[in-house]
Amino acid sequence: MTSICSGINKIVHKVETSRNLFRTYATDLTFVPKCQPVKDSDITRLKEFIDSHNNICILTGAGISTESGIPDYRSQGVGLYARSNRRPVLYKDFCASDSLRKRYWARNYVGWPRFSSIEPNDTHKLLKKLEDTQKVRCIITQNVDNLHVKAGSRRIIELHGTAFRVMCLNCDHKICRYYLQDVLDGLNYNMSATSQMIRPDGDVDISEEEIDRFIVPACENCGGILKPDIVFFGDNVPRQTVDSVKYNVEHSDALFILGSTLTTFSGYRIALQASNAGKPIAILNIGQTRADALANIKVEGRCSDVLSRIFTVDKKAECKEC
Ligand SMILES: [Zn+2]
Repeated sequence: MTSICSGINKIVHKVETSRNLFRTYATDLTFVPKCQPVKDSDITRLKEFIDSHNNICILTGAGISTESGIPDYRSQGVGLYARSNRRPVLYKDFCASDSLRKRYWARNYVGWPRFSSIEPNDTHKLLKKLEDTQKVRCIITQNVDNLHVKAGSRRIIELHGTAFRVMCLNCDHKICRYYLQDVLDGLNYNMSATSQMIRPDGDVDISEEEIDRFIVPACENCGGILKPDIVFFGDNVPRQTVDSVKYNVEHSDALFILGSTLTTFSGYRIALQASNAGKPIAILNIGQTRADALANIKVEGRCSDVLSRIFTVDKKAECKEC
């Protein structure tokens, strides 16, 4: 059995030394829902789950990015839906309406500098370290924020795409989102709006006048419509991605879900597949999830707090052996 301790002592030390401080300012973490302290027995059960499997599929959702300062959609009191009437754009509306696309890209353009500069938090970093111990088959993420990539993880399946890439709806030509920002800068040099607002997909509020003036480029390859390479609400996850997820879950020995309510079916069906195949499932999330009844272990708590405690227990065990 591979120890999850090796290679993660440095980050555990950082997490350990900051944990008390972290708890002190935790109430100021605007987008993290409140939760009860996690019992030691829950930490032990989750640690045993990780220790006893060596080919784990990890599934992450917006709940792991709240500690980086990105709100999730559905958390009670602090999620996007609880805070505003604003709802994500629907795929069919984006495809059908020039004015909606103009609005979308103008807001996305102003929000990009802030959104693209968000950093991974300790959960992303600890999952990367877990990946380094060869216990992780893949990280399937529902997030489009690129934070697993920024943390250095490599075996990532972006279930809902990424905000960091742009695609053409006509010819499927793909470009880097940073490159599009340069193009937009050139076309919209008169745009003065800035924003520190942050939403899960990088959207912000700007004035109608600024939206009216905004110029959206067409695909440089064929003149088609540009869309972020994100699976919008009402769109389907690409077949290749679905197949890749299925294959990896089938060949894994367990599923570990972090920070997701699994409200969207594309996430829930991963838990269903694992359950139907008899794979053990552990869930770490603040609040109920759609797959609670399928889980062998369900722990409610802040992801970075729980993971750092798991790795701290492991580190102490190794030190005794030394
Ligand atoms: Zn094109």
